[in-house]
Amino acid sequence: MDENCIFCKIIKKEIPGSIVYENDYVCAFKDLHPVAPVHILVVPKKHIVSLEDVSEENLEYVAKIQLAFREIAKITGVSQNGYRVICNCGEDGGQEVKHLHYHFLAGKKLGAKIVHD
Ligand code: AMP
Ligand code: ZN
Repeated sequence: MDENCIFCKIIKKEIPGSIVYENDYVCAFKDLHPVAPVHILVVPKKHIVSLEDVSEENLEYVAKIQLAFREIAKITGVSQNGYRVICNCGEDGGQEVKHLHYHFLAGKKLGAKIVHD
């Protein structure tokens, strides 16, 4: 964990986050500035900076995220209608928070241009 990382602080419940789902590996909480009716950030409970830092050593955390999406869909009631998952990586990818996170978007028919401006 990184003590200056905002998502690590949410995971450790040092600052309030609207957590909708968590297990030993994954934490999912509502995005502060939603761009869709359902906008949840899904993060590993380990400070991995970006997709560029995924390795055999931390792969278990990333793999568990793949399983969490379906649980989050169930919890938010969008399994049937569907959802979109986006991961921004690095400068050109538009990544602002340097803790790996996946945007889980749902609740309306998403257009082709849903990523942040
Ligand atoms: P990205 O541009 O992919 O790094 O996305 C970062 C996301 O984190 C943005 O959608 C922000 O709205 C969101 N965000 C930043 N701080 C918080 C926070 N404290 N709680 C929830 N979401 C946050
Ligand atoms: Zn972190």
